[in-house]
Amino acid sequence: DIGIAAESSVETLARPGLPPPGPQAHKYSRGMVAIVGGAMPGAAALAAEAALRSGAGYVLLLAEGGAQAPHAIVRRPFSPEALNDKRIGALVIGPGLGRDAEAEARLDHALGAPCPLVIDGDALHLLDDRRLALVRDRDAAVIMTPHSGEFDALFGAGTGSKIDRARAAADRAGATIVFKGADTVIAAPQGPVRLAGAGNPWLSTAGTGDVLAGAIGAVLAGQPEAPFEAACAGVWLHAEAARRIGAAFIADDLARALTAARASL
Ligand code: AMP
Ligand code: MG
Repeated sequence: DIGIAAESSVETLARPGLPPPGPQAHKYSRGMVAIVGGAMPGAAALAAEAALRSGAGYVLLLAEGGAQAPHAIVRRPFSPEALNDKRIGALVIGPGLGRDAEAEARLDHALGAPCPLVIDGDALHLLDDRRLALVRDRDAAVIMTPHSGEFDALFGAGTGSKIDRARAAADRAGATIVFKGADTVIAAPQGPVRLAGAGNPWLSTAGTGDVLAGAIGAVLAGQPEAPFEAACAGVWLHAEAARRIGAAFIADDLARALTAARASL
């Protein structure tokens, strides 16, 4: 039976083997992450803090406005030129982006940038057929992190299992899909699928998805050639941070707890 054979290739997420910085490391060699913000800069700032605490050496927050963020984050207003910095290892777009004309313009610049990309939140809502074709044709990797509402809007509500739907979406987009929720599924195009297993239900609070996008961006910047493994490692770090802090936390706490989760590897 083809269905059972396909399901048998599904593994459960395991502790990733992320190495610590080598003795000769400098901030750029650890991975530079750029976060493109927009209408709600707080969400982009959460993603930026998460990226730093997940091991990025340098985080550039391209956002205007007054959101609080650690002093270690370099902030500049968005400009298309900023995306051409060859040191950027991964670009994160979507958290707090908004859905206005400016958001669409920023997404188009991000899709045209040469670096690996994490697409989340509002940016997923702006992916029409034209932009999905751009995703598919990119040379550099793309990871998308939809929750169920974003997934349905992008790929259709569908009737199959969450695993089958994630797999079909990955094939269609030519991108790694992190289909979030209580039972997160990670799927690579024409490739493996992994299940995150039961997570901490206290994650069901605003901003935790922004934290995940930043964590994945940090790992991706360090290993741009292995986006599926980077997505899995980011999901693991996020779950481990939530496991460590336990209950009634807010997304700011979760971002901070990534330091301990990363240190545990
Ligand atoms: P978002 O919907 O974009 O804010 O992302 C929410 C994050 O929290 C994702 O990483 C989800 O997988 C996670 N999450 C939401 N609800 C639960 C739950 N009940 N159990 C475990 N993880 C959850
Ligand atoms: Mg979200």
